[in-house]
Amino acid sequence: MSDKALLNPYLESSDGILYIDGVSSLELAEKFDTPLYVLVENRIRENYRRLYQTLRRYYEKVRIYYSAKANTNLSVLKILEGEGSCIDAVSPGEVFLALKAGFTPDRILFTGTSVRDDELKFLVESEVTINVDSLSQLRRLLKFHVPEIISVRVNPEIGAGHHEHCITAGRNSKFGIWEEDVVEAYRLAREAGVSRFGIHMHIGSGILTVEPFILAAEKLLSIAHRIRRELDVKFEFIDLGGGLGVPYRPEEKPLDLDLYAERLLGLFLKRVSEYDLGEPWLFIEPGRYIVCDAGVLLTRVNTIKVTPYRKFLGVDAGFNTLIRPAMYGSYHPIVVANKMDWRNEETYDVAGPICESGDLLARDRRLPRISEGDLLAVLNAGAYGFSMSSQYNSRPRCGEVLVKDGRYALIRRRENLNSLLSGQEVPSWLR
Ligand SMILES: *Cc1c(COP(=O)(O)O)cnc(C)c1O
Repeated sequence: MSDKALLNPYLESSDGILYIDGVSSLELAEKFDTPLYVLVENRIRENYRRLYQTLRRYYEKVRIYYSAKANTNLSVLKILEGEGSCIDAVSPGEVFLALKAGFTPDRILFTGTSVRDDELKFLVESEVTINVDSLSQLRRLLKFHVPEIISVRVNPEIGAGHHEHCITAGRNSKFGIWEEDVVEAYRLAREAGVSRFGIHMHIGSGILTVEPFILAAEKLLSIAHRIRRELDVKFEFIDLGGGLGVPYRPEEKPLDLDLYAERLLGLFLKRVSEYDLGEPWLFIEPGRYIVCDAGVLLTRVNTIKVTPYRKFLGVDAGFNTLIRPAMYGSYHPIVVANKMDWRNEETYDVAGPICESGDLLARDRRLPRISEGDLLAVLNAGAYGFSMSSQYNSRPRCGEVLVKDGRYALIRRRENLNSLLSGQEVPSWLR
């Protein structure tokens, strides 16, 4: 199967050229230079709506907390603000950006790990809801402020994910609080005067089957039951986290969204009634699911190098621009934006400009015969793409463009050489 199987309705080929929601990818690359992230507004909206509407078929009190770290561009946040989404923020910076994008604090849930006291103060001043990740964090918070509402991140002892680094629950995970301490956390909060409560888990990322979500939810709900029984705590919300996967390989099957909703909400409603948990809101926190396939990374072929063993395409995007292949061994579909009609007849390694051997976007990839100057489109680059990019090797970060119905706008300027000096000071003795 070819990577073209992963094109979505907003990525079309016309006369052999890739169009992104009606805009020529060649024109964008010409106008804004490469590497360039291109985001499709309509696809973001569609992903959000599909998920929200599917969940709403089963329960009225559902809210989606878009996990901002997948893509924190202000325009993306504004699109989702307009859709009625809420925000899962993992740093004060994400809270700051979400507020700038127009989210009110009551629509922001902060879930941090290893949180400093001054960060806690910032969160309190920002009036966002805090989801604590350790007893220490809770104690430090309660020392200077008793919030009206608090949530606790539970480690449900079941994790899952596309890579070890992306499993965020279970025995070896640094995230969340284990059951015994969870009880203690709610006891402490209630004694301090907290009056409203939520409970939370997030088990991992890139999950394409329903089972792990169900197993973990079962555990979380049983812990909620215990808290309800032992401490008479009522939950205003139960947050089942994100992690909904998206296929990156042509042979992968998408998460069965209907099955996910039917089984997860079925279980939720059954246990909520059985455990006498009232009528809590159900939250989920997808990041990747909302933005992943709404983003394309355009990168130009600079150089072709043929060695006795390999054929390398040297492109202008390396792991400074898209780190997922180097960091997780992730597969990203790649198509040739100016040769969409050509047959795949060569096998290439696609390599970036970074001086590290691990700087490969793809290994052994079947592609049409490539010439220098061809434009590659790396698909599924909307999540954990720009947001994980860096200036490594002193390469300025690339730009971002938003397209909608044949129109486009630059939503982040490409950095320049002066950006490399930003914040640097030379001490007096070196001047
Ligand atoms: C990263 C993260 C998410 C989103 O994960 P996805 O795999 O992008 O859906 C949700 N909740 C928390 C707490 C996270 O850290």
